[in-house]
Formats: sequence, structure tokens, C-alpha cells
Amino acid sequence: MRTRVWAGGEEGRVWEWRKVRPAGVAEDREGLDEVPFQERHLRCVWFDPAYRPMDLTTVDGEPVIVDQPGRWNLEAGPDFLDARLRIGTPGRCLNGDVELHIHPEDWIRHEHGADSRYRRVVAHVTYYERRVDPACLPPGTVQIALRGPLRKCPSFSFETLDLTAYPYALRTVRAPCAERLAVWPAERVAGFLETAGLERLSQKTARMRQVIGLQGADQALYEETLAALGYKSNRRPFRLLAQRISRRLLAEESQGDSDRAYALLCGVAGLLPTAIRSEWDEETRRYVRRIWDHWWKFQARHSALILPREAWCLSGLRPANHPLRRLAVAALMFGSPGGPDDEWSAVFRKPVGDWAANLTAGWSRMAPESYWRTRYGFGGQRAVAPVALLGPDRQAAWIVNILVPWAMAAGRWIPAEDAELRDLPVEEANTLVKQAAVNLLGADHNPAIYRSSLCRQGLIQIFSDFCLNQAADCGGCAMRRELEKG
Ligand code: SF4
Repeated sequence: MRTRVWAGGEEGRVWEWRKVRPAGVAEDREGLDEVPFQERHLRCVWFDPAYRPMDLTTVDGEPVIVDQPGRWNLEAGPDFLDARLRIGTPGRCLNGDVELHIHPEDWIRHEHGADSRYRRVVAHVTYYERRVDPACLPPGTVQIALRGPLRKCPSFSFETLDLTAYPYALRTVRAPCAERLAVWPAERVAGFLETAGLERLSQKTARMRQVIGLQGADQALYEETLAALGYKSNRRPFRLLAQRISRRLLAEESQGDSDRAYALLCGVAGLLPTAIRSEWDEETRRYVRRIWDHWWKFQARHSALILPREAWCLSGLRPANHPLRRLAVAALMFGSPGGPDDEWSAVFRKPVGDWAANLTAGWSRMAPESYWRTRYGFGGQRAVAPVALLGPDRQAAWIVNILVPWAMAAGRWIPAEDAELRDLPVEEANTLVKQAAVNLLGADHNPAIYRSSLCRQGLIQIFSDFCLNQAADCGGCAMRRELEKG
């Protein structure tokens, strides 16, 4: 794809998207998957005990225990309010606010020292380890760097963070951008959203290119697909599983048999049922025995790789999203004869608008008798009609977010022109798309404006670039400033 320009300004005026995007996006080129990240990523890491490293220290080497990371501040001022930390051994208590930056020098650059709202700061948490002159910080402020401890966590990647799962400012009054966009014709608004959508795809492709550079094309597609199959709750264990059972190992062990692939994935996931249940029907018993027969043979070689059951989030899941069912999709995709190299090569020769239908037909051909085509779980009632292994919405999400960026990054498919991407399959308008649409188009907008996949991608891009990091008054929004120019 070419450099994105935003065709939504005055006639004859085009803006390069990257000139409008906020500054502060960094890349850690020495690790952590080389994923671009923003301060918001660091805020999520600090806030969420699942991501915050246990072995934090101050830059002076004193251990840090976070009793309370603080309240996420959605207004101007420090990032977290009323945190409680214990520093050193025995721990001295610090109660106050926390400010985060990627670069330690940002404290000085942003002139926080002269801003009274930052007087209660007790901890300056940064990504990089450089030290700020303590005289510039409120007296007694500790400096904590995240990069070292994060790099010691092999499963951590900024990419695994779902930035939208954390607080963001909800707007109750019409946003300034909505005022401006309201007077544009619908086609012009759609064109503007499409341009943002192309930028999003371009960023996804660039990131995929980096992952391919680190892991190779086959492993990259496999690992990204498994992570996506984990959805929000189980992204991390799915990714870990893909790292422990690599694409190559899966291919060697499965020998083109998707049952063998499924047995290996479920066995190493630690999710295989340990006993045949009396209430199960005969078909389920036969299937579980068959999978166990394969797993017995793999167990001796791979038992050291088994994930603990606590790695998985299994409560509150819809049956169709249970990892045991999603692993059947992974086994089919990557453990069957054909798979990406044969079955999918044919798909890449078709127009992108036909990919979903062709893939669905391919899965059916590859697994006509799969147990999971009529079941949602072990021993569950047999469905009367076949159940899609990957529903149309999930498949559309996978095509848009994984397969297309991968195919472009790996050089397996390049659209003849950007307009071809207008035919991408359409993902469900999730809460993020809907919230972004309310922000930009007002509460009473017509959803038909963003019915295409590209427009929905554009809404997410604008939301991530601008709305996520703004206080409720949109005061510092660069998009707002650009729109106000006309
Ligand atoms: S932050 Fe910017 S893009 Fe988001 S609603 Fe406010 S003005 Fe619009």
C-alpha cells in the first residue's frame, strides 16, 4: 500500500495521516517483539497485576511492592492517583500519585515540575532506565523503570495488551470532531474513515513484517492465528502454546493428521479430559479415546511443555469460544494436509471479497467428519445441522486482522489497488467501533456510513490514535485541531 493521505480536508487538500497522529509512539528495537507502543501500553502494564512485573526495583536498586497502583486518572494530571507502594527492605510506605512516561526526560519536557497538579507524585515510572535529576521531581519521588523486568517475562509482548479493555473517557456531549464531520457529505466521511482504515491495515502489515523477520513467515501466521483464536481471555496461553509447539513441530508430529495435531495441542495445553465420563455418549467416548491414544505417544516427549491449567481462563466463556473447540480450528488449519500452503494459496488467487466463502468451503472439505462440526463441547448435545468451526464473524475478523496483513507482509498477496480492500469481509461492529462512531459521528448517526470493513477499521484507528488518550473535553486532540483548520 502507498503512503496514506487523508482526502477528507478541503478540496485539493490532502493530509498525511502520520503527520496528524499524536507523537509518543515508541519502538523497542532490542526486544519485546519490536512492537510499537505508546504510553497507554505502559499505563495498562502498571495498572494490571497480570502484566505488571513482580520484581520491580527503583533505579537505585531498592525493591518495590505495589500494594495499590492507584486510580486511573481520566482527566488532566498524573496518570494514577492515590497509589500505595512499599519501597526497600523493610518497606517504607509511599502514598500518592504516579506519573508514567516512555522516556524519563519527558517529565522535564512536559514541564510537570512547574505544574501544581504533579506535586503529589511519589513515583515516576518510565519504560527506559535513564535517571532524571531528583531535584526536578517532587521530594522523595522514586524512579522505576519497566523495561528490564518486562524483558525478563518471555510471554510478555505489548501486542498482547488490549488497550481498549482499560478505562477511557466516555463522552456525554457531542465531541468537537463530530461537530465538524456533521456538515460533511456521507461519501466524504466514508472516504475519511477508509483512509484511516488503510492506515490501520498498513500498520498491521508493518508489524506482521517485523514478526515474520523474527520468526519466519510460517511461524508468524501460526502464532498470530493461535493468539487470535484465544480472543481476549486466552490470548496469552494460546500464544505460549504456539511457542511451545511450533508450527514446524506440529507439522512433524501430526504428519498431516488433524486428530494427531489436536491431541498434541490439547495435551500440551493441559486441557485434555483426564477420564471418560459416564454421562458421555458413545461418539464422544470414542473420540476422546482416539485423541488420548495419540497423546499417550506424544506425552513422554512433550510433557515438560505442558501449560498449567491456571494459565487458562475457562469460566464465563461461550461454548463456541472454549479453547478445546478453538484448538480444533488450529489443528485443522495447521495440522491437516493442505493448510496454508496448498488450500490457502488457491484462496490468494481469488478476489479478497471471495476469500471468506472459499475458506469456509475449504474447512468443510478438510474436515467433513470432525467431531467438532456437530458439538460445542465434549459430551454436549449433538447439533442437528453442522456448526461452523469458525463462525462468519470470527472468520472475517481473522481475515482482516491476521490473514490479509500476513499475506501482504509475506508477499503472498498484494492488492492491485487500495480500492480492492473495500471488499474485505465485514466484522461485527463491536463496542469499540460503536463508541468511536458515537464520538466522531454523534449519537444519532446513520450506521450505514461505516458498513464496510475498511470504515470500521478506520474508526478503530482514529479511536486508538486520538480518543483513547484524551480527557473527556478532547482538549489536546490533534485530530480536532486539524479539523478546525477546515
Ligand atoms: S479525542 Fe479527538 S477524535 Fe476523539 S472524540 Fe475527541 S475530538 Fe474526536
